[in-house]
Amino acid sequence: MSHPDVIVVGGGIGGLGAAYSLTRQGLGVRLLERAPAFGEVGAGIQLAPNCTRILDDYGLLDEAKSLGVVPDAMVMRDAVDGAELTRLDLRDLERRYGYPYLVIHRSDLHGLLLRACERAGVELITDARVDAYENTGGGARVTLASGATHEAGLVIAADGLHSAARKLLADDEPVSSAYVAYRGTVPAGSPRVSRVDLGEVAVYVGPGCHFVHYGLRGGKLLNQVAVFESPKALAGREDWGTPDELDAAFARTCDFVRDGLPFMWRDKWWRMFDRDPITTWVDDRIALLGDCAHPPLQYIAQGAIMAVEDGWVLGEHVARNRAADGSVDWSAALAAYQAVRPEHCRRVLTTSRTWGELWHLDGLAREQRNALLRARDTYDYAFTDWLYGPTALTPEQEPDMFTPIPLSSATGPGRRTAIDRTGDPTWRPKESSQCS
Ligand SMILES: Cc1cc2nc3c(=O)[nH]c(=O)nc-3n(C[C@H](O)[C@H](O)[C@H](O)COP(=O)(O)OP(=O)(O)OC[C@H]3O[C@@H](n4cnc5c(N)ncnc54)[C@H](O)[C@@H]3O)c2cc1C
Repeated sequence: MSHPDVIVVGGGIGGLGAAYSLTRQGLGVRLLERAPAFGEVGAGIQLAPNCTRILDDYGLLDEAKSLGVVPDAMVMRDAVDGAELTRLDLRDLERRYGYPYLVIHRSDLHGLLLRACERAGVELITDARVDAYENTGGGARVTLASGATHEAGLVIAADGLHSAARKLLADDEPVSSAYVAYRGTVPAGSPRVSRVDLGEVAVYVGPGCHFVHYGLRGGKLLNQVAVFESPKALAGREDWGTPDELDAAFARTCDFVRDGLPFMWRDKWWRMFDRDPITTWVDDRIALLGDCAHPPLQYIAQGAIMAVEDGWVLGEHVARNRAADGSVDWSAALAAYQAVRPEHCRRVLTTSRTWGELWHLDGLAREQRNALLRARDTYDYAFTDWLYGPTALTPEQEPDMFTPIPLSSATGPGRRTAIDRTGDPTWRPKESSQCS
C-alpha cells in the first residue's frame, strides 16, 4: 500500500469532517476506524451557525437541511413549573449570523459526511484499531492491533474521549460530572408529540436535572434527552445512572417533563465526562482533533461542532501553506492550527461546565437565575456572538467573550442585563464565565 498524505484515526463526526476537509485540498487521505462498520449512536444533534457555515462551505448544507429540521425558536423553561424563562428567535439568529440553526439525527449527519468522503475519494478502512503512534522524522506512523503499520506525512488522531493518542501530550483522565443522559425518539403519530411544538428546541432546566426536546427528520420524530445528577455517582458507586435514578431525579419536575420519561430508551444511558482543557495538541506530525483534544460537557451543544471546526481550520491552513508543487509545509500549517484552536476550545469547555451549573441550580440561586433569564431581551446576542460568528483562523480573529452577570444582581435596584451593557457603545465584552 502506498503512503497517503494524511492518516486520520477515528471515523466519528470529527474524523470524517477532517478527512473531507483535507481531501478537498487535494490531499490523499486514509481513515482508519476500529469498528467493523461506520456509524453513530444516539439520536439528535444541534448544529449552530458556526457549524452550518462550514457545511455550506463544503457544499453540504442543503442536504443537511433536507435531512433535519430548521427550528423557529429555542425556548428555555423552568422544569419545576414549566414557565418560560427566555428564548432565541432562530430565524432572526439566522439573519444575524448568516447561517441557520439546524437539528439533525446523528446518523444522518454522520452518513452525510461519510458519503461526502466516499465521493471525494477518502480511503475508508474499518476493523482497523490503532494501538500505537510514533513520529518518524518528516512524518508519522501508526501500528494497528493486527500489527500492520501505516505511514503518512501527518497523522490526525480523532479517536474520541478515551483517546490513545492524547497520552502523547497529556497525562490526564476523563473527568466524571456525575451526570448521566438518557435519550429517546418518539414517532410523530404519538400523543406525546401532539403536546409539543416541533418548531421549537425546548430546554427545561431544573434542580440537578434538565430535559431537552426537538423535532428530527422533517418533524417525523421527536428527540428527547433527559439528564440528571446521579446520587450513586456522588456516593462513589460503580452502578450509577440506572432508570430508578432517572425517575427519582425528575420527581419534582412538572407533568409535561415527567410524562416524557417513559419514552426514553431505558436500557442504555450515557455517563457524562469531559476533560480539563489542554493547550498543546500537536506532537511533531501527530495532531489531536475533536473529542480526543477537547471533550466537553454538552450543555452548549458544541462538541461535534468544535470537531468540524478543527477539520475546517486545518484544511484552510493547508491551503495557505501549500507550495506550487503541491507539497504542504506541515510545520507551518500545524503551528497555525495549534495557535488558534486550543484557546477557542478551552473557552467552550469551561463555559459548558459553568452553563451546566447554571441550569441545575436550586433554591434562591434558581430564583435569581430565573429572574435574570426573564429579564433578558429575546434579541440580545451578547451571549452568542463569541460562539456563532465565523470560526477564527488566527488568534486575532477569535472574538472577545461576554461579560458575566452575577446571580446576586438579580435582586435590588440598579440591576443591569446583558442588553443594557451591549447598548452602551463604550462597552466591550471581557472573557469570563456565564454565571458567577
Ligand atoms: C448527550 C449528548 C448530547 C450532545 N449534543 C451535542 C450537540 O447538540 N451538538 C454538538 O455539537 N455536540 C453534541 N455532543 C457532543 C458530540 O457528540 C461529540 O463531541 C462528538 O460526537 C465527538 O466526535 P469525535 O469524532 O471527535 O469523537 P467520537 O464520536 O467519539 O468518534 C471517535 C471515533 O474513533 C474511533 N476510535 C476510537 N479509538 C480508536 C482506535 N484506537 N483506532 C481506530 N478508531 C478508533 C471510534 O470508534 C469512533 O468512531 C453531545 C454529546 C452528548 C453525550
